[in-house]
Amino acid sequence: MSYAHPTRGQHTRKPFGFKRNLLPIPAEYYHEQGLKLIGGGEWKNALCPFHNDTQPSLRVRIDTGAFRCMACNAHGGDVLAFHMLLHGLRFIEAAKSLGAWEESR
Ligand SMILES: [Zn+2]
Repeated sequence: MSYAHPTRGQHTRKPFGFKRNLLPIPAEYYHEQGLKLIGGGEWKNALCPFHNDTQPSLRVRIDTGAFRCMACNAHGGDVLAFHMLLHGLRFIEAAKSLGAWEESR
């Protein structure tokens, strides 16, 4: 059975794009970025890299990678958002940088 799709993409469309399951494990990623995660439980504290932090203001959720700074309000929902913000990358650039972008060969 075939469907009549709009022509956008057409037949040359190849499988590529963001693969969320290829994102690094948050705990390992934040460690690699030089963050010292303090505390127990799901939310850890760390020195915020987005402002001149003197006490751990950044809260990081270790299972999802979500983060929020209580001082400068930098925040995001995963390590990709963190990577974009920290390195000033666009979505695709950050995804590629983290190895979470798959292109057809
Ligand atoms: Zn901050």
